[in-house]
Amino acid sequence: MNTATAAQTATYTKLNNGDWGIKVTGDISTGASVTVTKRDGSTKTEIVGKVVWTGKDKYSNADVSICTVQQVQRVSCRPAYRGGRRECDECGDYVTAGTRCWETGMMH
Ligand SMILES: [Zn+2]
Repeated sequence: MNTATAAQTATYTKLNNGDWGIKVTGDISTGASVTVTKRDGSTKTEIVGKVVWTGKDKYSNADVSICTVQQVQRVSCRPAYRGGRRECDECGDYVTAGTRCWETGMMH
């Protein structure tokens, strides 16, 4: 199975249900992280939720997959106070508020 390659591109696309999804070239599967290029050229890493469609892109004729974005709505990162410092349950580091958790991608 192919994993992400340098040639892989991903952009946001509107799903049939009105939610934002990702259009990715090449093979992709649930749980994969993809770098999505926004219209303004900036990028954001998203986690693939479900692959809802695969086929030929009508514009580029490339093999593409349309995927949902895995929502990380709940803050799974729950720093606990230990000895006056916050230890993140997810990444295990002693952290300060406002830093980004490398494990969950959420703010501490
Ligand atoms: Zn953390």
